[in-house]
Amino acid sequence: MSFTKRKFAPRRKYCRFCENPEIPLNYKHPEVLNDFVTDRGKIIASRMTGTCAKHQRAITREVKRARQMALMFYTATHSTDVLKKSRI
Ligand SMILES: [Zn+2]
Repeated sequence: MSFTKRKFAPRRKYCRFCENPEIPLNYKHPEVLNDFVTDRGKIIASRMTGTCAKHQRAITREVKRARQMALMFYTATHSTDVLKKSRI
């Protein structure tokens, strides 16, 4: 995933979904939603990501749907990555 280095990059913020309407914003694409969620599973505030209010609402809704469909995790305890790290 791409959320290692540029999470809080001091670049100009813009709404990614307004910029490029081609990006799928729904629970079927958790790889898109993962950019708007911390590694502990929290949804990142729009003031961090620059997402507009309309699309932030959509992200929130779709992340919650993806969690229910078990496409994303609710907390870090449910993430296989974190479990692997803690065992080392
Ligand atoms: Zn937008």
